[in-house]
Amino acid sequence: MSNVVTDPKTDVAKTASNDLPMVYVNGEMLPKSQASVNVFDHGLLYGDGVFEGIRVYKGKIFKSDQHMDRLYACANAIRIDLEKFVSREEMVKIQRDCIEANNLVDGYIRLVVTRGVGTLGLHPFKCPEPGIICIADQIQLFPAELYEQGMRVVVAERPRIPIECLDPRVKSLNYLNNIMAKVEAIDAGCLECIMLNTEGFIAEGSGDNIFIVKDGEIFTPPSEAGILEGITRKFVINELAPLVGVEVTEKNMRIEEAFEADEIFLTGSAAEVIAVTRIGHTEDDAHVLGNGSEGPITKALRTKFRQIVTSDNVPED
Ligand code: PMP
Repeated sequence: MSNVVTDPKTDVAKTASNDLPMVYVNGEMLPKSQASVNVFDHGLLYGDGVFEGIRVYKGKIFKSDQHMDRLYACANAIRIDLEKFVSREEMVKIQRDCIEANNLVDGYIRLVVTRGVGTLGLHPFKCPEPGIICIADQIQLFPAELYEQGMRVVVAERPRIPIECLDPRVKSLNYLNNIMAKVEAIDAGCLECIMLNTEGFIAEGSGDNIFIVKDGEIFTPPSEAGILEGITRKFVINELAPLVGVEVTEKNMRIEEAFEADEIFLTGSAAEVIAVTRIGHTEDDAHVLGNGSEGPITKALRTKFRQIVTSDNVPED
């Protein structure tokens, strides 16, 4: 097997490093090159499934309980009876096995639940059992220097899918709405965008939630704006903001409020906490927030976030 090399000293076969990570796929732990899905899986054919992106800090699964709550709720929302096939305890064990198999201390878990293997045609209930994939690896969503400097974003022309079409609270495998919005950002030479809902209110980023700071207070769109209820968002609202002594209020906002903000920051499991300092299609015509660098409240929150995730008390609740 090409993926297995033999250690010349011990004569023991081991997996070549370019074959890492080891990936959990439907009951098996496989090297990267062998970790694949069946072409009849409806996750692949239709984006029919749900997923989680989860951080591992100091070997702990950050906010594991909340990720499991969301995963099982999202599976239920699309009528996958996940409990029937994999208990929450088993699902956590799968993640721990992946962490261990890859000697991960700090990293990122992608946990995917697909509708499973079925027939051609949409019928979801012809797929007898869901597919389960768990990848534990590294992720770097934005270049490290942007965490210090803040970044430019665009306002996407493409709105977020309305709740009545496909509720953005369901973290489904169907990310084309977000991907095409992100393409708008990439076309404008940046990496993230602000997505509005179809009523013109601010919703979220393509892969993160948004917070707006004005006159010492923090504001964020409510769930009804059509957003993913981010676990990092909740961590900021319930834990980090009180720790730095700033109040967070949920409210619907028009994009003009973002242009006039003192600070804006984005949150997500992959993104963590990152400042937005300019909004616009080019550097020259961008709205500059505050003095154009990371503001004091964002910095305090980001620092607190880092303190907690590098401490010996990484929360798994
Ligand atoms: N919104 C969207 C669309 C996302 O994909 C994500 C990342 N999962 C978030 C917000 C942030 O959610 P969380 O903090 O739970 O990662």
